[in-house]
Amino acid sequence: MGIKMKKIFQDPDGKEYSVAKKKQLGYRVDMVQKLYQNGPMSATDLASCMGLTFPTAMSVLNTLSSDGIVLNMGPAHANAGRKPNLYSVKADAGYFITIFIDLAGTKIIVYNFHNQAIHTEFLNNAPIQDSYNSLILIADALKQILITLNIDQSLLLGTCIVMPGLVNHFNSENLTYFERKEFSLKEFLSTNFPEPVWIENDAKAVAIAEKYYGQYSGSKNLISMWIDQGLGIGLILDGKLYRGSSGFAGELGHIKLTANTIPCKCGKLGCLETVINLNHLYQLYLNEINNNSKANINSASDVILAAHKGNDAAVRSIARFAKNLAHACAMVIQLLNPQTIVICGKLTAAGDYLLIPLRQELLSLSSMDMIKNTSISLSDIADDAANLGALKILANSIFRPIDFNSTNI
Ligand SMILES: [Zn+2]
Repeated sequence: MGIKMKKIFQDPDGKEYSVAKKKQLGYRVDMVQKLYQNGPMSATDLASCMGLTFPTAMSVLNTLSSDGIVLNMGPAHANAGRKPNLYSVKADAGYFITIFIDLAGTKIIVYNFHNQAIHTEFLNNAPIQDSYNSLILIADALKQILITLNIDQSLLLGTCIVMPGLVNHFNSENLTYFERKEFSLKEFLSTNFPEPVWIENDAKAVAIAEKYYGQYSGSKNLISMWIDQGLGIGLILDGKLYRGSSGFAGELGHIKLTANTIPCKCGKLGCLETVINLNHLYQLYLNEINNNSKANINSASDVILAAHKGNDAAVRSIARFAKNLAHACAMVIQLLNPQTIVICGKLTAAGDYLLIPLRQELLSLSSMDMIKNTSISLSDIADDAANLGALKILANSIFRPIDFNSTNI
């Protein structure tokens, strides 16, 4: 059996390698990274972008091929001249585990080395509010999934878990849902999930997904507004995710901006997210029909569906919701002057029923000079945005520029 995928990213046994050996391992890691990031490449292109001679690139390719990591795909389709062979890392050479825990449950998606989702599972018995118990259920479910998929442990490249709350990505802390002192979230995760294990706040993971997979990925200053049971924003500033000094940047939902006294889950009254969350949209609809709820309209998603079918009360409730959202957008625009604001989550299904009144209301809240430079759009990434963000966070933590002088390549 050839060298396992994970061993090309980690010093397998901490031995002090010779300079030549370190270099060789560095080339292997670098080549796998290039092929992951760029897709199939020829040996000439690999040599060129890695700064290697052609024979050295071929030699690295040959060892990766004989270890069962890289595949020779045969000649490329070229219009003229000799067609070079293309090389690709095998789809089953490694796997990424992504987990999104929210108030409704947990979505586990396993991605292969070609970023293809090979398994998706939703656990409705593992919501974030059942914090510790949910983690145990998720860890058990994941073990079962990996057994079913017949994936060797050594091929698991790591785990990224996305969750709401005050998340410190670097300390693996969530002060909102895992605050019990005698329990170390970091320790539990590293013991029960494939390492390395990262955690990330949901709005930030969604921002990362928008940056890499969304239609506005070219925006250097992009703000994602993640609306579900609350409101969080993810800030891509100058092309990078901004986390803030403690990792908590973007908690816009817990600013008191309105006159209402609705209790917020943070313990205060009248936070912005008490009027910008999916349940509130449903509440606005109930207000519109004087609480005479119809059996087939029981959630925000039902309200959106009804609006598309011409239900006036549904249309009016989305417009009222849009006015609340406009306040959040105005604040972001005035403070950060972003290029793009992307509205994310189930609300995107509302389309123009949301966007038109939102843009209209913004005119009264922000100056035209500010508004005209910011596009406000709806995300085109499907429901898997949080998991896609987790995939990218994980890949970025594993694939990084190689320091050929380091002992830990
Ligand atoms: Zn609050």
